[in-house]
Amino acid sequence: MATVETTLRGPEAYGLARRVIKEMESAGVWPTPLNFEIWVHYLGDPEGALGREIRRILAADEPFTEGTADMLAAEYLPRSRLTEEIRDAGRVLDRELSSVSDAIAKAHQSQAAYGQTLDKAASSIETAGDGASLQAVVSGLTTATRKVQRENETLEKKLDASTREVARLREHLEQVRRDAMTDALTNLANRKAFDENLETACAQAEAEGGDLFLAVLDIDHFKRFNDTWGHQTGDQVLRYVASVMGRVAGHPRIAARFGGEEFAMIFPRESLIQVENALEAVRKEIGSRSLRRRSTDDELGAVTLSAGFAQRRPGESASTLLGRADAALYASKHAGRNRITCADPLDQAA
Ligand code: C2E
Repeated sequence: MATVETTLRGPEAYGLARRVIKEMESAGVWPTPLNFEIWVHYLGDPEGALGREIRRILAADEPFTEGTADMLAAEYLPRSRLTEEIRDAGRVLDRELSSVSDAIAKAHQSQAAYGQTLDKAASSIETAGDGASLQAVVSGLTTATRKVQRENETLEKKLDASTREVARLREHLEQVRRDAMTDALTNLANRKAFDENLETACAQAEAEGGDLFLAVLDIDHFKRFNDTWGHQTGDQVLRYVASVMGRVAGHPRIAARFGGEEFAMIFPRESLIQVENALEAVRKEIGSRSLRRRSTDDELGAVTLSAGFAQRRPGESASTLLGRADAALYASKHAGRNRITCADPLDQAA
């Protein structure tokens, strides 16, 4: 990414921008600001992960929809955005810390000066011969005390303001972190969040010896649906499927958008029957609702969903578990779609 940033400010910048437009046009991708940003990074680093994913999408003749762009951006661009946000937050923290340490240094100085004033006042009282000189000492002390009080108040206010600023910053960073982990189209966890959650769930299951199931779900004939009704309607269907999954998922279950029309669900500490029931509920609800195309009110019919799931074996890695759940999903597809397959009986048969 850093090389792309440098290229964009170097002699090759305009050449790259022209090439981006040309390649987007020949791939039939609209030059929206987000698409442009994605393609700049793609052509700036064609062999990177983003480049590979774009080539896969183009080779599979998958449409490059707004949803695709959102997903690619969430998956491959936010890292730099997040880094920028963290850098900004670092700058604000630096500023706050140096302003607080200035205030503390000032308070130290004035406390020391106040101490000297008190010492001086003590010896002046001893030598004071009359009421007038005593009054002068007391008045000097009163002034010095008020000064210190004012400075303490200023320090308190500064600390207060800094505490508020740091709390605001923490909240903002938390929001940025959440956004970087969320799929913009469906609001489910994105691939990055899914990967992290699956790793954590595997480590936890290994440590506790508890059950862990992973399901991979895929909308049947989604490409055909997209080609018939258009990408915007396709995106609505993704949102619909996600909303049903989101309702079934709840702590500690995690639902994620895994790729184009592929979703995943992580089920920590649940039994086979509970997982099967939850997946069946999702499959049945999705298949039972007839959707409408909002722009024309055309009846779209129902979409169906295939799923495969696997139970983690002791010592099994996240990627092997995912591979088995994926294989079970393909078994569902080959058996006629709109069904759920458990990987374990499948593996026993093999
Ligand atoms: P959305 O359009 O933002 O709708 C959010 C929620 O508002 C829906 O959640 C539903 O509870 C309610 N809602 C919106 N429009 C209607 C409506 O015309 N009739 C009824 N009865 N309720 C409505 P839900 O059902 O879970 O859907 C989530 C998302 O899935 C929707 O977000 C939309 O993007 C998509 N979706 C669901 N059903 C359809 C459909 O029949 N056609 C299309 N094009 N999209 C749909």
